[in-house]
Amino acid sequence: MRNAAPGSSAVRGRIEVQGLGRDYRDGKQALTVLDGIDLTIRPREFVAITGPSGSGKSTLLGLMAGLDRPSRGSVSIDETVITSLDEDRLSAFRGRHIGFVFQSFQLIPTLTAIENVRVPAEILGDAALAARAPALLERMGLSERAAHYPSQLSGGEMQRVALARASVTRPAVLLADEPTGNLDSAAGERVLELLLEAQADSTLVLVTHNPELAARAEREICMRHGRIERIIERARDARAEAGSQRLGSLVS
Ligand code: ADP
Ligand code: MG
Repeated sequence: MRNAAPGSSAVRGRIEVQGLGRDYRDGKQALTVLDGIDLTIRPREFVAITGPSGSGKSTLLGLMAGLDRPSRGSVSIDETVITSLDEDRLSAFRGRHIGFVFQSFQLIPTLTAIENVRVPAEILGDAALAARAPALLERMGLSERAAHYPSQLSGGEMQRVALARASVTRPAVLLADEPTGNLDSAAGERVLELLLEAQADSTLVLVTHNPELAARAEREICMRHGRIERIIERARDARAEAGSQRLGSLVS
């Protein structure tokens, strides 16, 4: 496969994972936490990853994001084999095409909300994308909070800032690792609604413990002991039906 230049307009958000494995060294022993993962995710598909704690969900998501390097196998996004890129090309590709939402928000404490949202666009040197920050904050219901620092925001507000930041570059791929895990149910519900709205133009891969939320995805990838245990497919119209229901009970 050819490695398209970062920024190529060919990126639509198809993710292909082949023979992916990750080992950690535990003293002299190698601990295999991910093994033999094969998976193709369509552009704009909504996929949930579920499974017990320690089953490898975050490891898989981090590898799809290029935040970590595999021990074997590959991850491609459209034409680009991201696991073969050097650090500079990988961070350029990630910066333009991948948005990531962490359970723990990971905002920069010394920057205000709007400055945090602009960071990915500024790293790209793209003023037009940076100019989207106020509108994104408004969509997140945070216009009044633009000049506030993370320490002045609630958890739900911080996660909405993080979601605006992850969306500012219009990434083809949006990855979220238990984004409501640190939030109470009302705040989590709001974040989820905004995440699903943001997903209209992106492939969304969401790690979640919540069965009802997972049931809204087109596919649910169930992990166990570092492998895919099974994949549950759901019809598109089932997803649309679930989507029309209130999210009230989705966040526990
Ligand atoms: P999940 O997100 O499903 O809870 P993880 O992908 O975080 O699982 O972790 C899978 C396994 O890999 C766990 O057993 C965890 O302890 C181990 N692991 C994760 N990161 C590291 C690391 N940096 N060093 C050693 N072991 C790790
Ligand atoms: Mg995890």
